[in-house]
Amino acid sequence: MSAPVVIVGTGLAGYNLAREFRKLDSSTPLLLISADDGRSYSKPMLSTGFGKHKDADGLSMAEPGAMAEQLNAEIRTHTRISGIDPGHQRLWIGEEAVAYRDLVLAWGAEVIRVPVAGDAEDAIFSINDLEDYARFRAAAAGKRRVLLLGAGLIGCEFANDLSVGGYQVELVAPCEQVMPGLLHPAAAAAVQAGLESLGARFYLGPVLSSVQHQGDGLLAQLSDGSEIACDLVVSAVGLRPRIELAAAAGLAVNRGVVVDRQLRTSHANIYALGDCAEVDGLNLLYVMPLMSCARALAQTLAGKPTQVSYGPMPVTVKTPVCPLVVSPPPRGRQGEWTVEGSGSDIKALCRDAEGNLLGYALTGAAVQEKLALNKQLPPLLA
Ligand SMILES: Cc1cc2nc3c(=O)[nH]c(=O)nc-3n(C[C@H](O)[C@H](O)[C@H](O)COP(=O)(O)OP(=O)(O)OC[C@H]3O[C@@H](n4cnc5c(N)ncnc54)[C@H](O)[C@@H]3O)c2cc1C
Repeated sequence: MSAPVVIVGTGLAGYNLAREFRKLDSSTPLLLISADDGRSYSKPMLSTGFGKHKDADGLSMAEPGAMAEQLNAEIRTHTRISGIDPGHQRLWIGEEAVAYRDLVLAWGAEVIRVPVAGDAEDAIFSINDLEDYARFRAAAAGKRRVLLLGAGLIGCEFANDLSVGGYQVELVAPCEQVMPGLLHPAAAAAVQAGLESLGARFYLGPVLSSVQHQGDGLLAQLSDGSEIACDLVVSAVGLRPRIELAAAAGLAVNRGVVVDRQLRTSHANIYALGDCAEVDGLNLLYVMPLMSCARALAQTLAGKPTQVSYGPMPVTVKTPVCPLVVSPPPRGRQGEWTVEGSGSDIKALCRDAEGNLLGYALTGAAVQEKLALNKQLPPLLA
């Protein structure tokens, strides 16, 4: 039998690529390998589960067996690849060698961990996949107070969801505003005020120094000396594309695994997409770009080399208490910001010297304008 197309990862990138590929090629052997349980789920839903009363099983959309049947593929779960041997077109799972016709890296990004002193490491959770989520749900049952680390998009989404789910949320981050880098300060203030209206408390500036077990709960100490009593800590301080195995195999890596517009790595027959990939210099940790990549790469794997292009890619942030859509200006483009509106309804627009719209942040009622504004935005990868 000829060597299969091998996809490493059963996240949205791996499964969507497999689906798109099967639309074009129903017979080439396809093997998916996943370090996790291989269930199909939508990762963005992980920060909506408490509000929707859904546990990990409730968020799972299909078992790996059903996916294998649907995709006419073999799926190996709880299987971690440990190396790639590009010269021999094979990869390693421990001692076992697996040959590939084409190899696709869709192995995602890993959570960044910050060192925290104290004896309560066991009570610090990160939520980056369905299994993480199941572990956190189990630990959070019967608890009431969550300390959240990180004021980025994911930290804010969890702040909203956990607050709605009945938890007292204390959010600690060493920045001046929520979603720094992504969001205009006026829009950030609107989102923060919304989360505060749900009861969330913000500690922006200090970092978490230590967490100790104390009585039935935990005592967290911040770098400015303040103390917070809590039951659990969720760390959402950021993600880093997985690049180590690629670098060890001699593939070019930068922030992510470096690929061109055809999603080709620096080595023949090896491709990458999703959170792990840096596509023509862009490493975007969102669903929209990975869907475009899956469609283009499926064509290439089916014999029709195809480049990916990105239109505008606004991000809808799931903070229902203060709806938010944001489209930061493309890299390297400078503009002037203007802010209209007040309270929770903010329209912040970024325009270049000629008056062309480069980006925006819309909150509250202003999100209704997104469709009209999207038509004016420049593409991210023309
Ligand atoms: C809480 C949360 C909310 C989000 N909300 C949004 C949103 O609203 N909108 C949006 O656009 N994006 C959102 N994102 C980002 C989006 O979910 C990701 O961009 C996307 O899911 C990434 O998919 P992926 O397949 O590249 O990676 P992953 O889903 O991380 O999949 C990686 C896969 O690779 C496997 N793997 C890793 N290493 C190995 C190995 N060595 N061997 C074998 N298998 C391996 C893993 O087991 C897994 O199956 C959110 C992310 C989070 C965490």
